[in-house]
Amino acid sequence: MIRGNAPRLPALVVGSIGLDTVETPFGAVRDVLGGAASFSAVSASFFTDVRMVGVVGEDFPAEHLALFRAREIDLNGVQQQPGATFRWNGYYEYDLNQAHTLATHLNVFEQFRPTVPDAYRDTPYVFLANIDPDLQLAVLEQMSAPKFVMADTMNFWIDGKANRVLEVVKRVDAMTMNDAEARQLCDTSNLVVAGHRLLNLGPRVVIIKKGEHGALLFTQHDYFAAPSFPLEDVKDPTGAGDTFAGGLLGYLAFTNDVSDANIRRAVVYGTVMASYAVEDFSLGRLQTLEPGEVMVRFAEMRRITAMPE
Ligand code: AMP
Repeated sequence: MIRGNAPRLPALVVGSIGLDTVETPFGAVRDVLGGAASFSAVSASFFTDVRMVGVVGEDFPAEHLALFRAREIDLNGVQQQPGATFRWNGYYEYDLNQAHTLATHLNVFEQFRPTVPDAYRDTPYVFLANIDPDLQLAVLEQMSAPKFVMADTMNFWIDGKANRVLEVVKRVDAMTMNDAEARQLCDTSNLVVAGHRLLNLGPRVVIIKKGEHGALLFTQHDYFAAPSFPLEDVKDPTGAGDTFAGGLLGYLAFTNDVSDANIRRAVVYGTVMASYAVEDFSLGRLQTLEPGEVMVRFAEMRRITAMPE
């Protein structure tokens, strides 16, 4: 974890936990650890104590649970149920910003009705990572007055349940999605218009992720744009957005400061975490990542984004 005297409040993460089969121009992997909650929780665990809610099937390898435990992630909210684990199968062409989905099998997530453990209900920082919006709302309803709730989604849910996604947007403090999803949900090609339309639905903060082109932050009184960290060697962008969001929320929980200025910092920490996620397939690079490396890239981000007077 990033050291310091910060308050370090816990964060709860709910979302998909799954097995991904992915092909990029730089290689292919089969049934590797994936899922929005997996990337987000591991990323957030570099900053704070993380509690996870989700479901895996009986085929979920024990070594993946061990990986979460090695990051001191609390798994009391993760159920193992009869049936198969969530699976996503996708590929990328040379434009790594565009994920092409070949198959999504919700499997045990199809029937999953989350029960947030009593000990989790007062968690102050909550990340509703990408999963069925009905499930995100069911988790939110079980929380007692969280301080800051952020949610993410994707085209799969906007296609199938746009009204429920909009309900999520209305109920959270921060909403994040990628550029194509913001265009689709807001019915505009202009991301500034989309950012403001989403803000008008209720959240205090909207973050639009643009893959290798960075992220845009909209609040009522502020606007900020962070480039992505410049990398020459990108192997697999899967999970970049989740790793970004997990790092961002983890940093907010670590500092217990949701001011606009601190959210800017959090966006840059999220950017740094995402830069490590894409260097290898699955959570490969996040497993070997050291907190000191996070600090080095954060300092580098400061340098490359500074503008002389
Ligand atoms: P990202 O690249 O950050 O947008 O997210 C990639 C992760 O999202 C993969 O590890 C997938 O397992 C997961 N994923 C893909 N489709 C869905 C879906 N419909 N709902 C929840 N998670 C998904």
